[in-house]
Amino acid sequence: MNTLDWLGRLVAIDTTSRNSNLGLIETVRDALTAQGLKPWLAANADGSKANLFCTLPAADGQTQGGIILSGHTDVVPVDGQDWASDPFQLTDRGDGRLYARGSCDMKGFIASSLALVPEALAAPRRKPLHLALSYDEEVGCVGAPVMLAELSQRGLRADGCIVGEPTSMKPVVAHKGGYFFRCTVHGKAAHSSLTPQGCNAIEHAARLICHIRDLADAWRAQGPFDAAFDVPHSTITTNLIAGGIAINTVPDACSFSYDFRHLPGHDASGIQAQVQRYVDDELLPRMRREYAGARVDIECGAAVPTLDASEQAAITQLVRALTQDQGVRKVAYGTEAGQFAQAGIPAILCGPGSIEQAHKPDEYVEHAQLALCDRFLRQVLATL
Ligand SMILES: [Zn+2]
Repeated sequence: MNTLDWLGRLVAIDTTSRNSNLGLIETVRDALTAQGLKPWLAANADGSKANLFCTLPAADGQTQGGIILSGHTDVVPVDGQDWASDPFQLTDRGDGRLYARGSCDMKGFIASSLALVPEALAAPRRKPLHLALSYDEEVGCVGAPVMLAELSQRGLRADGCIVGEPTSMKPVVAHKGGYFFRCTVHGKAAHSSLTPQGCNAIEHAARLICHIRDLADAWRAQGPFDAAFDVPHSTITTNLIAGGIAINTVPDACSFSYDFRHLPGHDASGIQAQVQRYVDDELLPRMRREYAGARVDIECGAAVPTLDASEQAAITQLVRALTQDQGVRKVAYGTEAGQFAQAGIPAILCGPGSIEQAHKPDEYVEHAQLALCDRFLRQVLATL
C-alpha cells in the first residue's frame, strides 16, 4: 500500500480522542505482523487505547540505536464544525488537497511512514528504524509516556526521533511546555435574598481568573521573550468555567480550567507558585472573612515538557541537511517531542501539512506535502 492508500485507511477510523484507537492500532499491527515484524503495544490502564511500537531491525539483526518515526493516532473532534465532505473519508476535491480529519494532524505522516516499511525492510540498513504510534496526544500528551516507560523497561535505545507533526516539512527545533490546571473554588450557598449569609464562589473565582489574566498581560508586556517563537512569551488563559445551580441561589462552587504554556527556561513551577501565592495571600483570607470553611483546590491535569533541541544533536543536523533548511523555528503548541527528549532521545519536529489546517473544519493535506514527506523519509532511510 502506498501513502495515499494508507491515509485513506487511517482517516476512515474515527480516532477522536474520546474514542478507543484500537481499531487503528490493530490494523497497523496486523499489517506489520504480516510483513514479518513484531510490533508491541503499550496500553492504557483499562485497555481501551494503546500505543504501538515496532522495530525494523538492521540487516545484522541489531535493534539498538537508529531513528524513531513518531506520530499520534488520535484526532480532535469534528463536533459543531461545518465540513463540505465526510470528515472520515479521504476526499480529493481536485484542488491538490486531500480533505479529512487527521489528514494533516497527523495521519499523513503516519501513512507515509507505514508506506515506507516494505522499502525499509528490503534496504540493507546498518541501523534499525522504529515506528512509534501513540494515543491521547490531543488531550495533553497522555499516551506517549506509557510507551516511553515500556521502551526504557525493554532497554531499547534510539539515537533520535522525528515527530511528524504538521510543520510544512520544515524542521521545528523547539516548542513550549504546557500545563492544564483545574481549579475549584468552594464557598457557601445561601438564598440570594440573603447574600451576607453566603460566600459566592463564582465571584471569588472571577477574582482569581482576572489575576491569571493579569499574569498573562505582564508576561506579554515584560517577557521573558524568545523572538524565534510564533508567540514569543509564556501565556496563561482560562478556557472553561462552570458554577451555580439557580438564579436565586448564591453558588457554593465554581470550577474553571486554565492552560499555561511556557518558554523553555521560563520556570513552570515558579509560574504556578505565583497563582498559588495569590490564592493563599489574598483570595482565601478575603473569602474566609465571609465563610471560615472556604477552600480553593487546584489540580494539575496534564503536563507537557518543553522541547529545546540542540543544534549539535545528530537528529537536528540530519533533518536540517535533508530539508536543506537552517531556519530557527519554535512553536507555541506542545508535542510529544519534549517527552522523547526528556526520556533521553533527541527529538525534532518535521512533518507534512500546515498547523494552520489542523483542528479546523475541512482539514487537508496537500498532495505535494505528502510527496515531500515520502521523499524525506526515503532519504532518512538511506542514511541508516
Ligand atoms: Zn498533532
